[in-house]
Amino acid sequence: MITLRSIVKLTSKSLNQGLHFQKCQAHVGWIGLGFMGTPMANHLINKGNSLVVYDINSAAVEQFKAKGAVVASSPAEVAEKCDRVFTMVPADPYVIEVFSGSNGLLTKAKKGTILMDCSTVHPNTSKKLLQLSNDAGVDFLDTPVAGAVPAANAGTLTFMCGGKADLVKKVESLLLCMGRRVIHCGDTGAGSAAKICNNMMLAISMIGTSETLALAQGLGIDPKMMTEILNISSGRTWCSDTYNPVPGIMENVPSARDYKPGFKVELIAKDLGISQSCASLTDAPTPMGALALSIYKAMTNNGHGERDFSYAYQFLLKKVAGGVRKS
Ligand code: NAD
Repeated sequence: MITLRSIVKLTSKSLNQGLHFQKCQAHVGWIGLGFMGTPMANHLINKGNSLVVYDINSAAVEQFKAKGAVVASSPAEVAEKCDRVFTMVPADPYVIEVFSGSNGLLTKAKKGTILMDCSTVHPNTSKKLLQLSNDAGVDFLDTPVAGAVPAANAGTLTFMCGGKADLVKKVESLLLCMGRRVIHCGDTGAGSAAKICNNMMLAISMIGTSETLALAQGLGIDPKMMTEILNISSGRTWCSDTYNPVPGIMENVPSARDYKPGFKVELIAKDLGISQSCASLTDAPTPMGALALSIYKAMTNNGHGERDFSYAYQFLLKKVAGGVRKS
């Protein structure tokens, strides 16, 4: 039944959405349209921002061209056309190249531009990017994200920002087109530091969840039943209830599509390399981080670098099965 209260509710909802929509609109540059960059850039365009995109893989830009985005031929051209630019590329050397290569962003970025790096990189790389940006007369924030592909698709990412508070305020409405939370972690590099801590935990907990479910299977307990128990018990993790590594338990996760990523083993190994480097720089003991790194490195060395990191379950299961056969 339509009541006055439901009309008021609907009207204020539409008004709020309208305001959010307007607040988001801007000329935005986006570099790196992979598993994360694609859904993030899609949210920006769907919320009314005009986008200029660039990726070294020309196939990645096609769907954006069809939606009316301008396809640039270099990062320099992106900087020429936009004063808000995001980068979302695999690792530190790629970001440095996009910023300061011969056709990089900093060759054409204008005063007033804010460059935001969403890639997961070493906090010292973020500091280097700030220095390079400031030398070129533009602003920089590290803005890495948590929540992985499911949250990127849903527009519910968490942004961990490092840099000046007034810059974070300036770009907050843009970030909220793609996410639910914007957290100012501190000075430049603090966003990357928080991100790398989160990912060390994620990497360890994927192995913990995988070895638990592989052990359960070795003991004759159905991993689906074990997952149900974990998810109402103290053993619950994001990996058990949102990104389960065992095929047949959840839909729309990499384990349901033969471990097509998602989040590649080679990227989580890169992140653990960064967290171990940060640990040695700060004298922090991270024994589980070191062990997790050795396991993801072994997966990469065995040809699984391009698979999703939840393949850890299959990798460990083979070892459990080998052990059971031996006894
Ligand atoms: P991806 O490999 O799927 O995408 C990277 C994209 O960058 C590709 O389209 C590639 O062609 C493009 N690229 C590489 N070099 C480039 C260059 N010089 N110029 C322009 N484009 C270039 O990786 P992803 O999973 O989307 O991850 C991107 C970043 O986000 C990484 O730093 C990763 O660690 C981080 N991250 C990933 C996830 C995840 O779940 N996949 C979650 C959070 C953060």
